[in-house]
Amino acid sequence: MSTCILTVACIMAELRIPLDIPSIEIISQATNSKGEIILSVKSLKTETPCHKCGKPATIRYGNGPTQTIRHLPIFDTPVYLVITPARYKCEHCDGSITTTEAYDWSKKGSHITNGLSDYLMRQLIHSTVEDVSKKEKISYDQVTNALNKAIATEVNLDSYSSLKILGIDEFAVKKGYNDYVTVISTKSAPDGQVSVIAVLSGRLKDDVLAFLKSIPEHLKKTVESVCTDMYDGFVYAVVEVFGEGVLVIDRYHVSKLYREPLDRLRISEMKRLKAMLPEDEYSLLEGMMWILRKNHECLSEVERDKLALLYKHSPKLKAAHSLALKLTQIFNTHCSKKSGVAKLNRWIKRAQKSDVTCFKSFITTLILDDRLFCS
Ligand SMILES: [Zn+2]
Repeated sequence: MSTCILTVACIMAELRIPLDIPSIEIISQATNSKGEIILSVKSLKTETPCHKCGKPATIRYGNGPTQTIRHLPIFDTPVYLVITPARYKCEHCDGSITTTEAYDWSKKGSHITNGLSDYLMRQLIHSTVEDVSKKEKISYDQVTNALNKAIATEVNLDSYSSLKILGIDEFAVKKGYNDYVTVISTKSAPDGQVSVIAVLSGRLKDDVLAFLKSIPEHLKKTVESVCTDMYDGFVYAVVEVFGEGVLVIDRYHVSKLYREPLDRLRISEMKRLKAMLPEDEYSLLEGMMWILRKNHECLSEVERDKLALLYKHSPKLKAAHSLALKLTQIFNTHCSKKSGVAKLNRWIKRAQKSDVTCFKSFITTLILDDRLFCS
């Protein structure tokens, strides 16, 4: 540990640490007794919006209390910015109105920078608050605070000229609890870096749909593909807003592997039913593809009735569909690899015992490619 502190101290002495925040300047740098990097910084801004009238307040009027704000780690070492905010008097209001400087790199009252907040949100994707807190050595409360602030922050897409690839991912706030948050990110920067554009509370189709709809039209046109997992709510929200032309990439490409044989079975069964059923009865079965792909709890009453009718006419499709739904459920459940493998093995046994033959090659893939088991 002592060598580690020494190393960081030595590197610090040699190096001027670059800061990716244009509106502040480093005055001095040091390490504390824990080997953490402490940067004294000052703001380069000369005004702040008046908290009363909103116009720029420009008359300097002393300082607010010194703040310590955590920033992105450097060499895996925590970095703290120490800053004494300026206070300004407003020339537009009567002389008594003063405002402490607001920063564009840290939210009001936050103990972390926006850069660190974004970094934490990215770390949270497919993880939990608990795990990120441990891994990044930031208290559970601070990660939760960052999360709540990110959810409460109004989305501002003004700084984006293009979105290209959108990512939609959800994570459980707490392990084992049904409390989810959805992170929308973009990989539009030339360096391919991911930036978080919104954090939504919940992971329902409607949460995501409302957000996607709120994207300005000119930016919607720049979306080329969307990466999302197999959670159907996300996929349907994407298709509803961007159409089927936008490529939806699921993480493991698994859903495609078992949806395709189900689709083929549906097509052949519908052909059979078309020849067999009176025209008006067959017409009741329109739109089956989407109904069969949806999670059961997402179906409307009308759709459920349609599905029941299809089940009645095609027991074969009913058996295959029920196996596919079970798979989606397995892949959508956050669980350990061990319990995931056990669930899939039970599913394979169940499928092999049934009369359903359409998943044969998918089962072979499952057995051969154990990467599909990873979650
Ligand atoms: Zn004012």
